[in-house]
Amino acid sequence: MENTRKDIRKLSLEDIKELCLNHNFKAFRAKQVYEWIWQRSARSFEEMNNVPLKVRKIFSALYSIYPLEIHSIQKSSDGTIKTGFRLFDGGFVEGVMIPTESRATACISSQAGCNLACRFCATGKIKLKRNLDPGEIYDQVVTIHKQAKEYNNSPLSNIVLMGMGEPLLNYKNVIQAIGHITSDKGLGMSPKRITLSTSGIIKGIKKLADDNVKFNLAISLNTADNEKRNKLMPVNKTNSLDELSKAIIYFHDKTGIRITYEYIMLRDFNDGLNDAKKLAEYCKIAPCKVNLIEFNTIGDGFFRKSLKSKTEAFYNFLKDKNMVVNIRNSRGEDINAACGQLANKSEK
Ligand code: SF4
Repeated sequence: MENTRKDIRKLSLEDIKELCLNHNFKAFRAKQVYEWIWQRSARSFEEMNNVPLKVRKIFSALYSIYPLEIHSIQKSSDGTIKTGFRLFDGGFVEGVMIPTESRATACISSQAGCNLACRFCATGKIKLKRNLDPGEIYDQVVTIHKQAKEYNNSPLSNIVLMGMGEPLLNYKNVIQAIGHITSDKGLGMSPKRITLSTSGIIKGIKKLADDNVKFNLAISLNTADNEKRNKLMPVNKTNSLDELSKAIIYFHDKTGIRITYEYIMLRDFNDGLNDAKKLAEYCKIAPCKVNLIEFNTIGDGFFRKSLKSKTEAFYNFLKDKNMVVNIRNSRGEDINAACGQLANKSEK
C-alpha cells in the first residue's frame, strides 16, 4: 500500500510538542525527536534510540520521514561534484558541490523543474513538477556538506539557492529550510553565507524585505534592457526592470543588504559596451556587486559564450566606474553541473 503519511519534517517544534502532550508524553520528547530529524538527519523513527519505543510507535503510525535518496554522483575534472537526488514520489533534482582551495559552496535546488523558461537555462526546458519541501532542500545541504568534508577536506562555507527552480515561487518552504540550516537546532550556518538567487519575482523580493531576512539576495539580471530581458527571461513581462528596481530599493532600504547581480555573458546579445553602460546605470539604485558569468552551452545552440576579449572589455568598463565586479568562470561544465545546465541528465 502506498505510504501516505505526512512528513514529520513539515511540523514545527511547537506542533511536535502539542502532539506529545496530546498523547501524554513528556514535552521534552518533542525536542529529542526534533533534534533527530534536523540535527542528526534521522531517516527513520527506529534510529531515535533515546526516545522510548512507545513514543516512536505512535510517531511512526502517524508520520513518516521522506529523505532524499542519492541517485547518482558525477565528478568533474575540476573537482565539482553533481549529485542527482530522487524524491520520495519519483521526482528528481540536482545539487552541486563547487570546491575551491579553501572553501566549498553548495548550489541547491528549490523546485523540481521550473516554469519560467529562461532562454539560457536547461532547467527552464523541464516543466515544473512540484515545489520541494523544507526537508528536501535541507537534505541537499547535508549531503553536499558531507561531500565537501570527504572530497575537499573543508566544511561547507557557502550555500547558493541557484540550482533548479525559482526559490521565491516556493517562498514558505525555502524560508523554512533556511531557518533549519541556520538554526542551532539544525546546521547552525550563518545566514551571511547563504545567497538566494531570483529571476526577479517582485512580490517575493518585497516579502523578503518585510520578513527582514539576513541572508544575501542575488538577482539573475542578465541585461538592463527591458526589451532584451523580455526575450531572454519571460518573467520580465510581468516583473519589469522598472518595477524590479523599486523592489530592490525597498529590499535594500529595509535590510541594508548589498545586492548581487548575476549577469550571464551571451555573445552579441548582452556583452557590448552599450549593454555595460545600461547595466552601470541600473546598478546605481542600490549598493551592489556584479558577477559576470561565463555562459555554459545547453545544447540548443541558441546562445554562445561571449568572447574573452568582449567579457574583459565589459569588465573593465564597469571597473572604471568604480563598481565591484567579478568574472566567474564555469565550474563543472564537463558534467553539466555549471550554471544554467542542471536538467536531470544524470537521471537517465
Ligand atoms: S534560470 Fe532559474 S528561474 Fe530561470 S528557468 Fe532556470 S531555474 Fe527557472
